[in-house]
Amino acid sequence: MVQLEHNERAVALLGQLTGQGRLPHAILIEGPAGTGKKTFAQRIAQSALCTGKEKPCGICEACRKVENQSHPDICFYTVPEGKKDFPVEQVREIRGQAYVAPNEGACKIYVIDKAHTMNQAAQNALLKLIEEPPPFVCFILLCENRSQMLETILSRVTAISLETPTVEQCIETLQKRFPEKEQNLLQAAAAGAAGNIGRALALLDTAKPSKAAADAKALMQALTGGQRYECIRILASYEKDSETLSQTLSLLRERFAGLCTASYRGAAPADLPARQILPAQAVQAAKVIDEAAGNLARNVRIPLLCACMVEEIIAAFG
Ligand SMILES: [Zn+2]
Repeated sequence: MVQLEHNERAVALLGQLTGQGRLPHAILIEGPAGTGKKTFAQRIAQSALCTGKEKPCGICEACRKVENQSHPDICFYTVPEGKKDFPVEQVREIRGQAYVAPNEGACKIYVIDKAHTMNQAAQNALLKLIEEPPPFVCFILLCENRSQMLETILSRVTAISLETPTVEQCIETLQKRFPEKEQNLLQAAAAGAAGNIGRALALLDTAKPSKAAADAKALMQALTGGQRYECIRILASYEKDSETLSQTLSLLRERFAGLCTASYRGAAPADLPARQILPAQAVQAAKVIDEAAGNLARNVRIPLLCACMVEEIIAAFG
């Protein structure tokens, strides 16, 4: 079955819709890029086309075809390559086809990606289509922000909002998908993407999480050794890269938190600091890093927030 994670409210709403036995003719899925709108559309298609008893069963032929994207009754349209907007011609093309009966399923699903990029003419053409939909068609509009859609369209769709998971939920999902990958890389990617699973997956394809992990380790050494210039040197590489910096700060914070919990348990910490740090000092450092991460999110200048963080931590270590 197509898996949906961390969107309990949206999944419950979909359950209600399918429980009533008939899907609405037009559904709008709203959420920032990377929140799983296409996956959610796939799950709706599976519910609609499943031939099993409990829909979606995940095992019938239709369910399997939806999952490996080979079902002939799902039509996917997005902004053509090289274009910025979803063109009105493409909406007309959909209108030309939509009245043709399904191939093998009980209905046809049209997934319309990036619907928010449609201009007024395209949205009006779409409106005509969803005002008088063929009885066997379900339109699924994907959009990043419903405020970009015409009121007249919004009044005719069932809207479902997807939410960005927390960083912890994102790490959990990444762990399930990549059990072989190092925990600190997954953690770095989740933090850098602020929980957005699609963006975290994209980050994992880059060298950024490993840079973050290596730098967090070096920073811990330099901070506990009182080497402020070494800290500033490492942090200078982030002047224009707040995304990787947020990964590094998150890992650095975890390192200090780990130091503290290891000392409470009387265990040796996973990585030894340059010199002994008291638990209270480690807690203080973690707090300062948290604050720096907050300032980063509020667009405080990066060199300034890094310098303040380094000074405060070194001062806390006395
Ligand atoms: Zn099925």
